[in-house]
Amino acid sequence: MIKAAFDIKEIRQQFPILQEKVGDYPLVYFDNGASSQKPKIVIDRIKHYYDHENANIHRGVHHLSQISTDNYEIARKQVQLFIGAEHEHEIIFTSGTTEGINLVAQSFCKNLVKGDEIIITEMEHHSNIVPWQMKAEEYGLVLKYIPLLANGELDWGKLDELLTSRTKILSFTHISNSLGTINPAKEIIAKAHANGTKVLLDAAQSLQHTPINVKDLDCDFMVFSGHKVFGPTGVGVLYGKEDMLNAMPPYKGGGDMIKSVTMERTEYNELPFKFEAGTPNIVGGIGLGTALKWLSSLDYEQVQKHEAELLDYATKQLLEIDGARIYGESENKCSILSFLIEGIHPYDIGTLLNQQGIAVRTGHHCTQPVMEFFGIPGTIRASFSLYNTKEEVDLFIAALKKATNMLK
Ligand code: PMP
Repeated sequence: MIKAAFDIKEIRQQFPILQEKVGDYPLVYFDNGASSQKPKIVIDRIKHYYDHENANIHRGVHHLSQISTDNYEIARKQVQLFIGAEHEHEIIFTSGTTEGINLVAQSFCKNLVKGDEIIITEMEHHSNIVPWQMKAEEYGLVLKYIPLLANGELDWGKLDELLTSRTKILSFTHISNSLGTINPAKEIIAKAHANGTKVLLDAAQSLQHTPINVKDLDCDFMVFSGHKVFGPTGVGVLYGKEDMLNAMPPYKGGGDMIKSVTMERTEYNELPFKFEAGTPNIVGGIGLGTALKWLSSLDYEQVQKHEAELLDYATKQLLEIDGARIYGESENKCSILSFLIEGIHPYDIGTLLNQQGIAVRTGHHCTQPVMEFFGIPGTIRASFSLYNTKEEVDLFIAALKKATNMLK
């Protein structure tokens, strides 16, 4: 497909919310790491669904149910194409990244025995720590961590030491939500596979910045959330290799995930339905398909160039502010800028920035082990998306200077 030139003005016009004001100030939305805004095409698609198509799927013979089912399954196909999966049935719709990881932790670990090992990293979002801790406790599994380094990269050199014949799965984030670090996923996956270890890739922060091809990466599982890739909240995707998904028991029981039910026993449905019990987020799936189709119309290389320029521009100006320290200085980094100003609590800065229309996130970003490593309570995080501009960075820096002057 021929991609249109990257025209920031034209892109911004597609996001109605970017015209909002916060009091007298124009909204500057730099909280994209938490959730992205939605283009009008996604918002319109959701409205169209409720205006013209709404019905439950998979079970109806009537017109609306068939339309709804067709569009939900088209969305699954759109996801498959977007991430380069071999089969459509390897795409499981979930409520988001968190549910995807919980699903794998629960179903994959059912086949493990006491003393089997899992490796995660010190950089993980809580949603890629807690489910494994819960399963480790339940089944007597050993949980190991790849350590963090001072520049915000992981000490991947330790992987060889941590891998043993009992390491069953390695689960790690592609991009750190609190530091911006991009991990060398392909290389790490190959190393794990050489040891016979399966890999789950947390791509919650990835697809909005960089393309992912699951066949090329060769990950066994990959998870992401719709709301961070310009799609709706409450929907996400678990990709799993067919043989992996077939080998795992279902995660939830209910309608749609069964082939037959008697009072004595249940025969489970085939993929992907085996993992999709109950009425799913139908409009969410359709909206996510639309969001990914929209994202496909853009050129990732141009998006990355634009975001890299924003990061560079903001980083240089931030470092000129007295007492500023950046957390996350990896060579390979995406447009997430986590920082502190010496002597000032991040929450106070976040509050004063908000009073000037700037939306940033403050706190531990659900990565408390990262904060513990740096010995800090949290950071201020400005995370830039493809629709942000240098003019917005200027507003942010001016507002930040004003805030620090008031608080020092
Ligand atoms: N992993 C990472 C790296 C994330 O950034 C997030 C969201 N901040 C999650 C997992 C959890 O995503 P969700 O809340 O959408 O399930």
